[in-house]
Amino acid sequence: MVRLNHEQGAPEATCYLNGDYLPLSQARISPLDRGFLYADGVYEVMPVFARRPFRLDAHLDRLQHSLAGIRLPNPHCREAWKEIVRRLVDEAPWADQSLYLQVTRGADDKRSMPFPPEVQPTVFAFVAPLVQPSAQQRERGIGAVTVNDIRWGRCDLKTLVLLPNVLAHQSAVDAGCEEAVLIRDGYLSEGASSNIFVVKDGVILAPPKDHRMLPGTTYDVVLELAVRHEARHEIRAIAEAELRSADELWRTSSSKGVLAITTLDGRPVGHGEQAGKPGPVMRQMQTWYAAFFDEYMSEAQP
Ligand code: PMP
Repeated sequence: MVRLNHEQGAPEATCYLNGDYLPLSQARISPLDRGFLYADGVYEVMPVFARRPFRLDAHLDRLQHSLAGIRLPNPHCREAWKEIVRRLVDEAPWADQSLYLQVTRGADDKRSMPFPPEVQPTVFAFVAPLVQPSAQQRERGIGAVTVNDIRWGRCDLKTLVLLPNVLAHQSAVDAGCEEAVLIRDGYLSEGASSNIFVVKDGVILAPPKDHRMLPGTTYDVVLELAVRHEARHEIRAIAEAELRSADELWRTSSSKGVLAITTLDGRPVGHGEQAGKPGPVMRQMQTWYAAFFDEYMSEAQP
């Protein structure tokens, strides 16, 4: 259902909060919510194309992994999640959307760190218009800066603990760039909101899925496509020096797909004629990814 947000004159979507569907501007949570006080919660974000959530099951699997990692029981079975998603997506004023799901450990009546007994989790979900990369970003790539990875030790969980990511993103924006590439102890971990791939001498390099990075749904697709098309690839730790001498750098995320990073800390990525331009392996992967996307979208909706 389309409502106008009268202050901005823009359409407003319905959100879901603890069993209710209501306009986003009317949603209220307690200031004692543990998500607000302690970032004690997890979330997911996925794109919706033509009112079809893209790889919803992969995101619900990761939500389950994140919930288990913070010892919070999943408040909904998969069908219940799908029903919430279906309703929000169907009622939104836009066909292409960004869908956000969040679960926190709920609001106690006091501020106390240990898990509160008998407190219901807070479940929140909303959709917004999908922001896609511009034609220029797809064609020419984006700029990135490197930032010291100061996050905690469980980056495989998609938790609300995002202050380091916020600061990293702001460093990128301050430098006129779109992404921050995080480096921990001399090794690449990932982007502030993406996974990072390196190409060297025609080989696609990806850091292993461990506690230092989020297991990206697009990371999985890219590696599946590399296997399917027999592209040379290696999954291993990537040293900062390899990042800096890469022939190509890519950033992957479900909302933006596969994008080239063409400058790093103000210097062009790559060598010779290709320096500062999206490379040939990237172009090949974008073609495979586009075909995968079309194939996925043409399949019957689950
Ligand atoms: N790493 C981080 C830190 C992210 O925020 C994201 C975006 N969710 C990703 C990686 C990429 O994950 P996905 O491909 O599932 O969007």
